[in-house]
Amino acid sequence: VENTLDPADWTELRAQGHRMLDDMLDYLENIRNRPVWKPIPDEVRSHFKEPLPQEECDLGEIHQKFMDYILPYAAGNAHPGFMGWVHGGGTPVGMLAEMLAAGLNANLGGRNQMPVEVERQIAAWMGELFDFPEQAGGLFVTGTSMANFLAVLVARTAALGSEVRQLGLCGFPQRLIAYTSRGAHRCVTQAMEMAGLGRDALRLIDADGDFRMRIDLLKEAIDKDRNAGLTPFLIAGTAGSVDVGAIDDIPALADLAAENTMWLHIDGAYGALARFSPQLAPLLSGIELADSIAFDFHKWGQVPYDAGFVLVRDARLLQQTFTSPAAYLQQTAKGLAGGTPWPCDLGPDLSRGFRALKTWFTLKSFGARRMGSMIAGTCALAAYLKSRIEASPELELLAPVALNVVCFRYRCPNADAVNGDIVVAIQESGLAAPSTTTIRGNLAIRAAIVNHRTRTSDIDALVDATLRFGRELTLPKV
Ligand SMILES: *Cc1c(COP(=O)(O)O)cnc(C)c1O
Repeated sequence: VENTLDPADWTELRAQGHRMLDDMLDYLENIRNRPVWKPIPDEVRSHFKEPLPQEECDLGEIHQKFMDYILPYAAGNAHPGFMGWVHGGGTPVGMLAEMLAAGLNANLGGRNQMPVEVERQIAAWMGELFDFPEQAGGLFVTGTSMANFLAVLVARTAALGSEVRQLGLCGFPQRLIAYTSRGAHRCVTQAMEMAGLGRDALRLIDADGDFRMRIDLLKEAIDKDRNAGLTPFLIAGTAGSVDVGAIDDIPALADLAAENTMWLHIDGAYGALARFSPQLAPLLSGIELADSIAFDFHKWGQVPYDAGFVLVRDARLLQQTFTSPAAYLQQTAKGLAGGTPWPCDLGPDLSRGFRALKTWFTLKSFGARRMGSMIAGTCALAAYLKSRIEASPELELLAPVALNVVCFRYRCPNADAVNGDIVVAIQESGLAAPSTTTIRGNLAIRAAIVNHRTRTSDIDALVDATLRFGRELTLPKV
């Protein structure tokens, strides 16, 4: 019985494959001519409310549906006008590498194969980038949300030993307490919940005028908890906060962690890769003292989604936290079951994709120097946006610009509602796509310049659109 899912006619598939490749290259080459985003008509959504297909369908036809109903209605983060949240733009290089990875269909849980060596190469490069010692190690995960979670689990092992895996938290008298900034990403809280430590065991420390965690309050909180018989175990600092791009005073956090025998984790989701830029790297000084760092290649690194990474100063702790023997996973000195330790011993995933390949292609292709200048370039554009806001009496800056995130608003009565409407109007116009946040109780238009394709003219388009919609939305009603 011929049961394969391979094509009956490879020549036809090859031609179709080339059309698909050309379509995506056209998309990326001409992306500037498209709207950043457009609202999805009901008619388009309805195409994805059909019953499970029972019969075969021609690949060309499915591809056409993708071109008509999916591609035009993506979020638009590949577009240079996309400035919402913190989204990377991707690259054609990353796209092509992803195709190679899918063709190989490598499973990076383990085994004696070069794809695993590629992931180890990335871990070694990251150890080098962050000046970590030889025994450092790490692995790819979906994103920083997961990387932060893994780091909390590793910190828990460091505090209680690997017996916690057998006994659970209830087997220990200690009540573990963690500390982070009020401006930290919500996934830090989620990590505490998922680790079974509970949200109540996370102290949210107020920030200073530059949105950095206040060291005096942190120290007070640690002392207070210790005096109450609790066990401070983890400081989670932020390098590049999601709201405003603030970077905590990492050397001071490292000092406090060392004094109190606590784990220092840095959430550097997008900010950590500023280390590629010699000009920006000093802003992250102290990060080399961290016990673990979580970051994403899919944000400032421009690697196509998803590509999060957790780097741990002493990789043995990853093994102590996650290794589980199983008869069907026996590892050997030789043969295909060699090559220990396997990535599945360093984290919770057994089957894992080849995220390392698109990352390896990206770093090999552009090199650290060009990655650094691209990242510094986005910060220069943020500084330009800041200068345009300061030069416009109708606009107001709402937070200092530490890196590449600019929070501002249109000055007017009822500013929260109007600025919310301005952001929706800009998004629906397709001219640009900022998002919003709340800064000291005020709604802010938030532009995070992450995309390597963004230029000065895109910043001008955002400012001009803000002014235009701001004026229109505040016109006296007649
Ligand atoms: C984006 C972000 C996260 C979450 O990362 P994901 O890759 O989306 O899971 C965490 N922390 C900060 C500071 C971020 O910017």
